[in-house]
Amino acid sequence: MNECQRCGACCAAFRVDFSVYETQACGGTVPDGLVVDVAGATVRMRGTDHWPPRCAALTGAIGRQVACGIYEWRPAPCREFEAGSDACARARARHGLAPL
Ligand code: SF4
Ligand code: SF4
Repeated sequence: MNECQRCGACCAAFRVDFSVYETQACGGTVPDGLVVDVAGATVRMRGTDHWPPRCAALTGAIGRQVACGIYEWRPAPCREFEAGSDACARARARHGLAPL
């Protein structure tokens, strides 16, 4: 199991915004029911603007064992998020986890 499968902090720390064109309704991959409208052509993963934030697609317990329910279909910001980055360290810190 890699570190991300034991973590999930970044899926429960930030707003996850992306283009509406990544949704299934617009020919993309992200299931429409997991997305909320923001403004214009921007949408957001459901749950990531709640407090505390937690993406509706995330299953499991943060810092123990997690999975993304739409891993194959997740949006660009999730694909581009880098394990070991500053943002990764910030997300982990919010959940009491040491940096990688
Ligand atoms: S916060 Fe970092 S280690 Fe944790 S799941 Fe995200 S990228 Fe992986
Ligand atoms: S779509 Fe998956 S990878 Fe992206 S924030 Fe949600 S649970 Fe995490």
